[in-house]
Amino acid sequence: MAVDPNLLIEQLDADIVRCRACPRLVAWREDVAAEKRASYRTETYWGRPVPGFGPGTASVLVMGLAPAAHGANRTGRVFTGDRSGDWLYRSLHRVGLANQPLSAHIDDGLELFNCRVGAAVRCAPPGNAPTPEERDTCAPFLQRELEAMARLRVIVALGNFAYQAITSHLGVRPRPRFGHGVEVVARFPNGHDGTIVCSYHPSQQNTFTGTLTEEMLDSVMARAAQLGSAE
Ligand code: SF4
Repeated sequence: MAVDPNLLIEQLDADIVRCRACPRLVAWREDVAAEKRASYRTETYWGRPVPGFGPGTASVLVMGLAPAAHGANRTGRVFTGDRSGDWLYRSLHRVGLANQPLSAHIDDGLELFNCRVGAAVRCAPPGNAPTPEERDTCAPFLQRELEAMARLRVIVALGNFAYQAITSHLGVRPRPRFGHGVEVVARFPNGHDGTIVCSYHPSQQNTFTGTLTEEMLDSVMARAAQLGSAE
């Protein structure tokens, strides 16, 4: 009998939040949580690895590279507590993958429908840049997530770094050049062929300059939702 994907994901998330395998990242995430940004000085930071968010039964996985120091490393929910996350969850809500446009903290009532959000590396890295060794150390968690999500058919890669991480992990060769809206078919660890859909990252660098507009992000998320509901 197949194991319930939500149970596997629950076990995975519990293992992730206990992990201390990368000394540099453990030190950084805890230092940031102790020192805090002045505007958040009254808050208790999460300061631990950040698991994915959303049901294990989802067919769509939206993937970033790693948590932000004062975003998810503060709130404990991936892509929550910074401008990138505001953009992401508003878009997921507009295309019907979330029950509300706001992701503020872990008790805010947010639910995702047929969609999970995660990251290739689970701890906030200095300069938003994990080393290749740290990425590889965290890769078994990604593998477990991709295996547990039995219905997974679509991975949205948010930004070129996430795209490089997921295509390396899946052994995609040759690797098509990253671009907004680019789609790549790949064999997923759950045994199914699926589609990687590329999106520019909703960083302020991209959203302030108009490199990524809300319409562009919605277009990718709507396409992911469509592919994810195709079965
Ligand atoms: Fe563990 Fe991943 Fe965090 Fe490294 S990045 S300490 S492997 S959870």
